[in-house]
Amino acid sequence: MRQLNALGWMHNRLRMITASFLVKDLLIDWRDGESYFMQQLIDGDLAANNGGWQWAASTGTDAAPYFRTFNPTTQGERFDPQGAFIRHYLPELAEVPDSDINQPQLWAAKNHKKLDYPPPIVEHKSARKKTLDAFERAKSAA
Ligand SMILES: Cc1cc2nc3c(=O)[nH]c(=O)nc-3n(C[C@H](O)[C@H](O)[C@H](O)COP(=O)(O)OP(=O)(O)OC[C@H]3O[C@@H](n4cnc5c(N)ncnc54)[C@H](O)[C@@H]3O)c2cc1C
Repeated sequence: MRQLNALGWMHNRLRMITASFLVKDLLIDWRDGESYFMQQLIDGDLAANNGGWQWAASTGTDAAPYFRTFNPTTQGERFDPQGAFIRHYLPELAEVPDSDINQPQLWAAKNHKKLDYPPPIVEHKSARKKTLDAFERAKSAA
């Protein structure tokens, strides 16, 4: 989000992770994210942005299956293992070692450090389950 706010641009993977987090970890209406992206993106485009958000929310015509949810931590571990990108936008995490950069709060707790960075606002595993249950309920109701 800091990159989006600073540059008006994010790589496609980050757009997918961000959209998935808002919709499937926080259970927030995809239209809120879609409209914020549209305000910020320099390449904001109705079809690509709206389609991207609906893909992530599993409501679009080419939607990702509803059970597909991005895990932001493992995405970071796979695509930013040394935390080069994270460190650029989150200088508060400068002293966290590469091996822990994607879970800084665990490192802080283990090493009795105080980070100037908020703890996670949701627990991914239980948030994912809550979302899957909501989709299951919607399917049964239909
Ligand atoms: C939630 C979300 C919102 C998005 N909003 C926009 C938007 O407002 N405007 C926009 O142009 N793109 C949007 N995209 C698509 C994609 O993120 C950007 O086109 C891509 O980041 C552009 O990066 P690039 O120029 O390095 O292209 P590359 O990743 O190198 O790809 C080459 C070209 O392919 C096209 N492309 C790549 N990924 C996608 C994709 N997922 N969907 C459609 N076309 C793609 C682009 O035209 C791009 O120029 C969105 C994707 C998501 C998941």
